[in-house]
Amino acid sequence: MKIHEYQAKQLFRDFGVPTSEGHAAFSVQEAVEAAQRLPGPVYVVKAQIHAGGRGLGGGVKVVKSMEAVREQAQRIFGMQLITHQTGPEGQQVRRLYVEGGADIARELYLGMLLDRDRGQIVIMASTEGGMNIEDVAHHTPEKIFKVWIDPRVGLQDFQTRAVAFALGLGGKAVRQCGSFLQSLYNLYVAKDCSLVEINPLVVTGSGDLLALDGKITFDDNAMHRHKDIEALRDLDEEDPREIEASRWDLNYVHLDGNVGCLVNGAGLAMATMDILKHYGAEPANFLDVGGGATAERVTAAFRIILGDSRVHAIFVNIFGGIMKCDTIATGVIAAAREVGLDRPLVVRLEGTNVELGRQMLAESGLAITPATDMKDGAQKAVAAARAYAANLAR
Ligand code: ADP
Ligand code: MG
Repeated sequence: MKIHEYQAKQLFRDFGVPTSEGHAAFSVQEAVEAAQRLPGPVYVVKAQIHAGGRGLGGGVKVVKSMEAVREQAQRIFGMQLITHQTGPEGQQVRRLYVEGGADIARELYLGMLLDRDRGQIVIMASTEGGMNIEDVAHHTPEKIFKVWIDPRVGLQDFQTRAVAFALGLGGKAVRQCGSFLQSLYNLYVAKDCSLVEINPLVVTGSGDLLALDGKITFDDNAMHRHKDIEALRDLDEEDPREIEASRWDLNYVHLDGNVGCLVNGAGLAMATMDILKHYGAEPANFLDVGGGATAERVTAAFRIILGDSRVHAIFVNIFGGIMKCDTIATGVIAAAREVGLDRPLVVRLEGTNVELGRQMLAESGLAITPATDMKDGAQKAVAAARAYAANLAR
């Protein structure tokens, strides 16, 4: 789960990570009022969307008067902000953050994330702040300094000093860097983050460290123990299909292909995507309905897939172990009747109650193409998607 910059900065303040003073605004009037509460004379109006690169896309403006705050707020509110992280259609701006202008001497990069290979949290720091860190990592990886934190002893002072020196800090900023990183680490662990990124981390004209941007991603599997964080969720920023899927506890990821998949078990779901690709199609989604799915959940899953107009065929691939084949059949039939099955459906069932499941599907009166095994099913689904797409093009 992601949150906005202004929410991340509030968490920074709660944990003692120095950041700029500012206020969120949900209207132009609120943006002006937010600026009036700041000392001035420089203000920064910042679009709040769950994507980086806002500055380049025109979503961050430094201004020097109340009038200009109003003008920029009017311009940015409601705009479709396009950045390298939003995709070509952009993301609509519904919230703003107005903060004081910082006196920037240097822009640095600081990231904290989980290194899954080492099973440790890693700090990544670079003097190349403000830039796209993916480019820095790709072209000049030596410019990213890394420190791994042993969870048994936590972040050590010698490590924070090493980061400070790698960033070329001196004087009071070295000590500040220590408490900055320590506070950030406390936040990371306490709130079950999976990524905290500050780009840029700035050194001000007076030599102080300040988090000028803030991006936090949380571990979805830990959200049940952070109701305060869950409350920060902004559904406007999320894919409506993924929201609906999470409501039903389905593991769903939207993809770019045209064959919708309904599968039980993450391993089988991955294998299904592989075999579809092998036979020349691209999956429209990853979907694992789980082992203990009820007919209602299968119905919801089916509805989500059919709700995607780019889906040209559906491949149901079920191995009924814990999940019984007749439960799947019930869900498929119910969903197809409810939503109206307007696209080809290929079903491969195997496992517990398979005969009953097949019989239910056969007697349902729905136009279902049965498949004998995975290969057969994948080939039929790919062919059906092609035929459907060709028909559409005519
Ligand atoms: P994004 O990463 O989405 O482009 P940032 O918050 O990093 O957005 O802002 C982009 C750039 O705008 C920063 O690199 C910095 O140069 C400038 N900027 C952002 N906030 C301020 C501020 N409060 N004062 C002065 N400059 C700022
Ligand atoms: Mg940034």
